[in-house]
Amino acid sequence: MAPIVHDHRALKAWGLKNTKQRKAILNILVQSDDPLTADEIYIRLKAENTEVSLSTVYRALELLCAHSVLQSVTLSGDNRMAYVLEEKEHHHYIVCSRCKRILPISHCPLQAFEKALAKETGFVLQGHRLDLYGLCPECQRKQSEDADAAAAALPKNG
Ligand SMILES: [Zn+2]
Ligand SMILES: [Zn+2]
Repeated sequence: MAPIVHDHRALKAWGLKNTKQRKAILNILVQSDDPLTADEIYIRLKAENTEVSLSTVYRALELLCAHSVLQSVTLSGDNRMAYVLEEKEHHHYIVCSRCKRILPISHCPLQAFEKALAKETGFVLQGHRLDLYGLCPECQRKQSEDADAAAAALPKNG
């Protein structure tokens, strides 16, 4: 269940104009367990006949991130972002750089570091980003199959 703070009432509480599009975008993200890219959100909006342009989706996503309603995850390789509701409990993500699969990491390794850094610098820390990249087990397997196939295709020169 998505926390109530993320529904359209929350948008009003934060002083955001509660447009139909923003509400529709939030609904899509509430229903999704995985972070979605702007394109994926746009396709889903179209599928449910929401009148919206891709640039409106981008603008809304940017705004919702700026207000900490959403959290963005950078997908490696193509500089795309995926978006997910900012949970009360903060998450990091590991992204497969081949298939773009995204897994949440429930543990935040930076909390102790933040405390120490705040003490050291006098900053009041408001947040941080940490996305990790790698190859998921399935892609590791596919990659070694590809390598085997490539090796098999090489001409055998004695
Ligand atoms: Zn993968
Ligand atoms: Zn963290």
